Amino acid sequence: MRRVYLDNNATTPLAPEVFEAMKPYLVEQFGNASSIHWFGQQAKAAVENAREQVAKLINARPNEIAFTSGGTESDNTGLFGIVEAARRRQDSAKHIIISAIEHPAVLNAAQALEKRGVSVTYVRVGSSGVVDPDDVERAIRPQTVLISIMHANNELGTIQPIEEIGRVAREHGISFHTDAVQSVGKIPVDVERMRIDLLSLSAHKFHGPKGTGALFIRKGTNLLPLLYGGHHERDRRPGTENVAGAVGAGRAAELARLNLDPQARRIAALRDRLEDTILAGIPLTARNGDRERRLPSTSNLRFDHVEGEAFVIAMDLKGVACSTGAACSSGSLEPSHVLSAIGLTKGQARSSIRFSLGRLTSAEDVDCALETLPGVVEQLRALSPHYRSSRQLTVHS
Ligand code: PLP
Repeated sequence: MRRVYLDNNATTPLAPEVFEAMKPYLVEQFGNASSIHWFGQQAKAAVENAREQVAKLINARPNEIAFTSGGTESDNTGLFGIVEAARRRQDSAKHIIISAIEHPAVLNAAQALEKRGVSVTYVRVGSSGVVDPDDVERAIRPQTVLISIMHANNELGTIQPIEEIGRVAREHGISFHTDAVQSVGKIPVDVERMRIDLLSLSAHKFHGPKGTGALFIRKGTNLLPLLYGGHHERDRRPGTENVAGAVGAGRAAELARLNLDPQARRIAALRDRLEDTILAGIPLTARNGDRERRLPSTSNLRFDHVEGEAFVIAMDLKGVACSTGAACSSGSLEPSHVLSAIGLTKGQARSSIRFSLGRLTSAEDVDCALETLPGVVEQLRALSPHYRSSRQLTVHS
């Protein structure tokens, strides 16, 4: 059976070039990058080269990049690191601003901070799934120490006005963190132009290895580390360097930078064909979130009277991998907080599906998904009592 992978926002396959670059550092070049002998220095040089490659992708300086275990750790370090540093300076409860559509890595970190006495404002979004910078500005208080707004949303793909929010943060002298895990390597990211102080990225979202990410920390930013240990990563993140991981992240960053525009155009064209064909050909379907301001790779669609989880399973049985917007928590199927935030009902959120394309997605993959989809939708709708009764009403009227 042909297998089609349309879940690239979850993770991407390792690029063969990245694997080749990593291989020596898993076998022969095994040194500890903190050792002073030859083996260590070989490893250190490789990590520093990777740091430059990552920095270049986001227009940062290499010494502003700290390697981490991924997006989750980078987000947590950004939030806790800024708040704890501010508390150490003044030891009073603080205030931070995030959006209502953040990834759980930011959302749950903010909620943990709330339990420690930090106030959190959750800025709302409208049906477009885009944050209004004026709302961010209105939320600022004298105690605000951090604004953390994601660059691209993982479920909808919507791109937030980071440059405008960066300007607001800078004008008020507040640190600005962005979770750019879904945007780095897919669309241009420039920490200077966007006035970003802290940025999280994760290599496995752009064809690098899982378990490796980075946090950009602007020079002069006052940040406490999340972990305590040795003096690695300029005291910002202790632990023996993951040399092969860093090398993989660096090579993946380089590949992404060299191919950014053509790749984005090609993927957007495929995504649009997939989306337009579905919306035009299958009744009772709709797009979630803004059509224009979103990643080239992502399409989040609603199929009324279709149960999302059942859809994903049925498509998977036919070889097509996609995902729902709903997350299963504590045994009950809660609708996604992102889809709820844009105003969808529980039912609509449960009928929403995310298709995310990537570097390896081909026109044939899209054809295959388009051939499979109508039958699956029809089959699942036939099981829906609501759909059956609404059809009978239409037939009789
Ligand atoms: N932030 C966003 C927006 C994400 O999409 C993800 C992963 O899905 C993360 C953070 C977490 O990254 P990681 O898987 O590297 O921990």
